[in-house]
Amino acid sequence: MTSDLSSAPWRATVLTLFPEMFPGPLGISLAGKALASGLWELEARDIRASATDKHRSVDDTPAGGGPGMVLRADVLAAAIDAVDAGDRPRLVMSPRGRPLTQARVAELAAGAGPLIVCGRFEGIDQRVIDARRLEEVSIGDYVLSGGEIAAMTLIDACVRLLPGVMGKLASGTDESFSDGLLEYPQYTRPQVFEGREIPDVLISGDHARVAKWRLAEAEALTAARRPELWAARPKVPESGKKRKPPKITTGE
Ligand code: SAH
Repeated sequence: MTSDLSSAPWRATVLTLFPEMFPGPLGISLAGKALASGLWELEARDIRASATDKHRSVDDTPAGGGPGMVLRADVLAAAIDAVDAGDRPRLVMSPRGRPLTQARVAELAAGAGPLIVCGRFEGIDQRVIDARRLEEVSIGDYVLSGGEIAAMTLIDACVRLLPGVMGKLASGTDESFSDGLLEYPQYTRPQVFEGREIPDVLISGDHARVAKWRLAEAEALTAARRPELWAARPKVPESGKKRKPPKITTGE
């Protein structure tokens, strides 16, 4: 049992009213190649298949009045129960959820893969969130028309961390958020673009200087653009003092 689970590829099971939206962009480029080669699996299931009345209705008007329609708890619960999800995380995409972070993405990527409920209309009946202990996850402080694009966002962020998907790029250690910092600026040829040169240090071949420059740039960018991330940075170990951000030398 345990060995079966550990050898099974990472799997995302998506419950949606629009299964035809999948794989969509997840079928292309890195994620798409990895999907085709079996490094992960995607199952999009139609919530409507769990509707029981003769009109196959999945929604109804909000209790208490107001505009729009609400996804029914009974239909959604039946759709969830039809999946043999075991201990896999059960998520529902929702603007009211906890904002998704790279840390949560890394946890989800390290597990067996989530079951993800996509809302539509005005959202879903609260009772199914409570009864099936769904974890509400938001991808940001704005409102989409449905959970599908939000689910794709979450899946894409997880898939690129799966072993073998990005090859040696997958270390992820230098990436934005991996150490509480935004990433340093990147450059490639040509050496001069519209009169702008690649910073000298990056073509110096001095790896220690490059690393120092990159850290300084990452710190400066983070302090300037994301003060809350900067404030949450660990203190300098010896002195217990907050680091001072260096000045940005590139960009803005
Ligand atoms: N009336 C709801 C919004 C419903 S939007 C509210 O004000 O909270 C319809 C569906 O889109 C939601 O059920 C959810 O699944 C999805 N959705 C919209 N915005 C989202 C966001 N920022 N993050 C994750 N899912 C979102």
